[in-house]
Amino acid sequence: MAYIPKIIKGKVTGTGWPIDGHVLHFSQWDYDNRESWHLYGWEDEDDEAVMLTVHQTETEAGLSLYDTLEDFEKAWKSKEWESQGSFCLPLNQVEVVEVVQEEVADDAREKLLAHGIDLRPRKDSDKGGILCLPLDKNLNGDIQAKHPDWQPMSCPTCGRKCWKPAEADRIQKEQGVQLLCTMCALEAGLVAPYRQSSQPKPGGNRAERRRAKREGRKRH
Ligand SMILES: [Zn+2]
Repeated sequence: MAYIPKIIKGKVTGTGWPIDGHVLHFSQWDYDNRESWHLYGWEDEDDEAVMLTVHQTETEAGLSLYDTLEDFEKAWKSKEWESQGSFCLPLNQVEVVEVVQEEVADDAREKLLAHGIDLRPRKDSDKGGILCLPLDKNLNGDIQAKHPDWQPMSCPTCGRKCWKPAEADRIQKEQGVQLLCTMCALEAGLVAPYRQSSQPKPGGNRAERRRAKREGRKRH
């Protein structure tokens, strides 16, 4: 099941903007640790207040594409206006009036989060996660001839022999990734392992990965 954020109707308070006192729709996403509300939608009767607020905040942030409120309003009303960023409020400025939709977890993702693994696209600043190590049995031929920078090691979880790319130590040190063999990563339900585009995919070519996946499923 795909991830669905929590959606509420909430009364805005204490922002000092025209939306104060208005009940708007907000969403909350697990990726920002449920620390803020994202403006999600509003009724026609609140449109004016939202427009004035967005104009004010975009202008103050130096993000507005329009010189005057008049131009902004024209673009807003003709639906030409495009958001210059997501509009968020801290939790204490939204009083929950009604929960429209509870958060629905992505099953695979939730399973990984239970293991302390997060699955957003990887950035250099990211911490944690899994680095997937190719298993020796999935690789053909003389590994060290093909990949002189790879080191043999035992998977920390199952002990099977796998190979560690040179990058692994740096990534582990800088980002605190967990090293796991392909099979253990698959068993953890990992669907988006860290990989470098310049290196062969961990676990071999596509056919080999498919086979590994099939075998992984059978084991359950
Ligand atoms: Zn393993």
